[in-house]
This record gives sequence, C-alpha cells and structure tokens, in this order.
Amino acid sequence: MRKNKTTKNFTNFKMDGDVYLQRCKVMSVIYAVKKSGMNIPRIDVRIGEDKNCHVLGKGRLNDNIIWITPKAINKDENYLYHTVLHELVHTIFGKGHSRTCHLMKAYQPEVVFSKDKLIKLFRRYYDLWINKQTKQLEVAWVK
Ligand SMILES: [Zn+2]
Repeated sequence: MRKNKTTKNFTNFKMDGDVYLQRCKVMSVIYAVKKSGMNIPRIDVRIGEDKNCHVLGKGRLNDNIIWITPKAINKDENYLYHTVLHELVHTIFGKGHSRTCHLMKAYQPEVVFSKDKLIKLFRRYYDLWINKQTKQLEVAWVK
C-alpha cells in the first residue's frame, strides 16, 4: 500500500530551493541521531504549514513520516532538535505525550534542553524500542 504523505489540516510545500534547505536542516537532526549510534529507520520528511499556526510539527504514530513547519526550523537549533526528536518519538516508537518527559510534553517548553541532552532523552525511548524488538525475536525463536 502506498504511504499517505499528507496529514489533516497540513499543507505540504512543493519542493523548491527554500524548501530543500529547510528539509536539509531537519535531516541534519536525523543524521545526528544516526551518528550517535542509533539505528533508526528511513524517515519521510515533509515541510509545510498547519492550519493551526501554533503547530510546530506532526508525526504519524508508527509510520516513519514527520511534517515540520518553517516556524520550528527558523527557531534556535535546540528548539528544532526538540521538535524533530519529539515527532520522531511519535512516528518511530509510537509513543504519545507525557506530562513528565521534557521531550514528549504536548507543548514545547518555553526553554528547551541543549541538543545533546535532548538526544539523551531520545535514546531512552530508542533503548526501550530496541529491547522490545529483541524480546519479540526471542519469542519467535522459542516457537
Ligand atoms: Zn506530539
């Protein structure tokens, strides 16, 4: 089945030079995750605008696709990391919001952690996800 590359209330921008550069900035966060040794799947990245101007990004649960707005991209690097890593947790690990996790709060905090600290928070979700996959394999082997 073809993956649905659109999401409710969100307009994907057509690719041009500007959009390409914006997408590169988002990709750089994904590369930083990979460089730090985490083996994450290929992610579809769309740039565009949401009807709700407060939305920074969207990620479809367990579908490896995220939508990021220029608003998130034009903020300081740490804020961009926060938005992208947050959406990656939704779309790769299928996790929802958490009141107690700085990364997974429903609203971006006024002041976000440094990008290194955010990657560490992301790694906690990654480790849980990897452990779960390993367990599933173990069960399969027992059969
Ligand atoms: Zn969210």
